[in-house]
Amino acid sequence: MDILDCAIIGGGPAGLTAGLYASRGGLKRVVMYEMGMPGGQITQSSEIENYPGVFRENPPVTGMDLMEPWPQQCTHFGMVHEMKEVKRVSKEGDIFEVDLGSEKVKAKTVVVCTGSTPKRAGFKGEDEFFGKGVSTCATCDGFFYKGQEVAVLGGGDTALEEALYLSNICSKVYIIHRRESFRAAPPTVERVKKSDNIEIITNAVIEEAYGDMTGLRGVELRFSDGRDNMKLNVNGLFVFVGSNVNNAVLIQENGEALCELNDRGQVVVDLNMHTSVPGLFAAGDIRIEAAKQVVCAAADGAVAGMQALNFVQENE
Ligand code: FAD
Ligand code: NAP
Repeated sequence: MDILDCAIIGGGPAGLTAGLYASRGGLKRVVMYEMGMPGGQITQSSEIENYPGVFRENPPVTGMDLMEPWPQQCTHFGMVHEMKEVKRVSKEGDIFEVDLGSEKVKAKTVVVCTGSTPKRAGFKGEDEFFGKGVSTCATCDGFFYKGQEVAVLGGGDTALEEALYLSNICSKVYIIHRRESFRAAPPTVERVKKSDNIEIITNAVIEEAYGDMTGLRGVELRFSDGRDNMKLNVNGLFVFVGSNVNNAVLIQENGEALCELNDRGQVVVDLNMHTSVPGLFAAGDIRIEAAKQVVCAAADGAVAGMQALNFVQENE
């Protein structure tokens, strides 16, 4: 079987853009493995208004609207999409092996764009109202609640930093945390405590999120210190209980990672999206210090696609 010039793993904004740049730049055999429909996490979002140049007020642009033309643009320039899950990437000498379970494919370069998955907290109604009031992205969705009251779940750095961000947009932010003390850095906790429009609710978990056809209408809280349950009537709830990077494809049979990862499992890359292994690139949410935005993932993908092209040409 032919050796691919470039195998791309993941078909979100990073993977699709890597495919566009690699194939349009001249690589002949570029295959993007995406286990579902291409588009990535953003296709779950009912509105996106911070992707430059793409804006519509009513009805708003959905994540699906935004991503719908991307695959066609990539395949036009020769990229092939295969709807397959990659199990593992390994390297034998100078060649990568992409394990698809039923077959193994060889490639000169690999771009890993498998993204990240925000953790769900597990309360009743969380899945039902996800994307309809329940969000995991304040930068993306905070503006929809301008001047309104919202709630944030979690007590780590992300939850408190995002609560501060939301406090600039929303009239009031409730932070719901399951313990008395916070995991977040002390200076961040201090900033939160000094904020005029953030109210901290500790020793509380969400019993249930409730709403109607139009979306979330509130959450019911249960306390671990004996207080009665209470309801918060909010249309927006931001869940920040940690996230997992989807790095499983990089883990080898012996349990070690193919390339360097940081202590959070994110792929260490340089500004050119090079990992610690020559010919292996990573782009988008999976990489260190990712801004977790579509425009940033696409930009990473463009860089990685161009670098894969250079790598193949330099090693021919
Ligand atoms: P992803 O989009 O996560 O794509 C990774 C892809 O890899 C997925 O399609 C997955 O199926 C595939 N994959 C994973 N493992 C494998 C495997 N082993 N084999 C094959 N395929 C695999 N950003 C904004 O800029 N603006 C917004 O308004 C915004 N709103 C958001 C709203 C929601 C509800 C969510 C969840 C996110 C939002 N984001 C927003 C963030 C944005 O979606 C992400 O930053 C972006 O999608 C990251 O792109 P990516 O390509 O790195 O990864
Ligand atoms: P995190 O540190 O793991 O915090 C997750 C928070 O969610 C914790 O407060 C946890 O409660 C709570 N939680 C977990 N599961 C829950 C559930 N099912 N229901 C309710 N609450 C739940 O995650 P993170 O805040 O995303 O941060 C991840 C890492 O990134 C951390 O190392 C953090 O320091 C780092 N980070 C750093 C910065 C920065 O340096 N500026 C910014 C963001 C993130 P408990 O506390 O009770 O466990």
